[in-house]
Amino acid sequence: MRCMIGLGSNMGARRRNLREALDMMTALEGVELVGVSFFYETEPWGVEGQRAYINAVAAIETELEPLELLDRLQEIETALGRVRVERWGSRTIDLDILTIDDLIIDSERLKVPHPLMKERAFVQIPLRDLIELGDNPRGSGEVVRTHGSPMDYGLKLMACVDRGWGLGREGRLLYRIEEDMRRFRSMTLGGTVIMGRRTYESIGRPLDGRRNIVLTHGSIEGVETVSSVAELFERLSMEEKNFVIGGGQVYRRLMGYVVEANVTMVDGITDADVWMVDLDGRREFELIERSPRGGFEFRRYRRHADIQERLGEIP
Ligand code: ATP
Ligand code: MG
Ligand code: MG
Repeated sequence: MRCMIGLGSNMGARRRNLREALDMMTALEGVELVGVSFFYETEPWGVEGQRAYINAVAAIETELEPLELLDRLQEIETALGRVRVERWGSRTIDLDILTIDDLIIDSERLKVPHPLMKERAFVQIPLRDLIELGDNPRGSGEVVRTHGSPMDYGLKLMACVDRGWGLGREGRLLYRIEEDMRRFRSMTLGGTVIMGRRTYESIGRPLDGRRNIVLTHGSIEGVETVSSVAELFERLSMEEKNFVIGGGQVYRRLMGYVVEANVTMVDGITDADVWMVDLDGRREFELIERSPRGGFEFRRYRRHADIQERLGEIP
């Protein structure tokens, strides 16, 4: 089921709270993050005299039952220090279910679509980053685009897969294609490459001419590491070209933020044990380029929304 989640924070490190919540949602069993809006600074709604909010909307694909999803989201709110004092009062994080496909739920614990979503500009404006809303009302309240969304970094992805989106087997890549490796090098040179620990170890050294960042709980001598996705986005630069280069877990964790994927697809199916996300089955991506070579082809996928043109618009 496709589900839209509204996020908001007006206490503590507001942007970080949102990024942590997004990463915790991604880590949930049965939940895949498929997209996020930009971040917006918004005036408090319903209660006066509060600090301004940072709001965003996320799109997820989930197998969870609606009430189970609500439970998981409330656990994340609690883990991030949410304390319920008054209705619409200040909070470190608020995670509201906006829509679940076109389901209508009207129970005590859960109302879907969220009853106030059309009245709130802090929901409607970010929602427009993810889906076409036609002439839906804009809602009321001041809403200004601000920095801090993982989308601001224009993440690109590089991967080499077989026809079934297989990536590797027993900790190794399935293919080593000379032309693909040259292309990978020339595209990523001068930029930042982001990878998981196992991918780093299978390469065995930092890639030259690029900033290397390894996502790992441990440390690696002489290599820049980050222990969480939230920390990754604190370190990345919006001025650089940022590439996610694997492996399977890191692709999955960052896929929701990727704006462009460069995929080398090799003819044939291998007995892989790790897979990439199937981008042909993802409605937010479109295949914009195919260059067939002998035995493989280069493909470029782009996130549908006009997110790319709007990357540089932050005040
Ligand atoms: P609002 O829902 O108007 O934005 P709020 O987010 O501040 O207010 P909370 O304190 O987060 O309200 O939640 C109060 C209760 O609302 C929750 O315990 C939950 O059971 C219920 N609820 C009903 N519908 C929803 C929904 N669509 N998403 C999240 N919570 C919901
Ligand atoms: Mg709310
Ligand atoms: Mg809520």
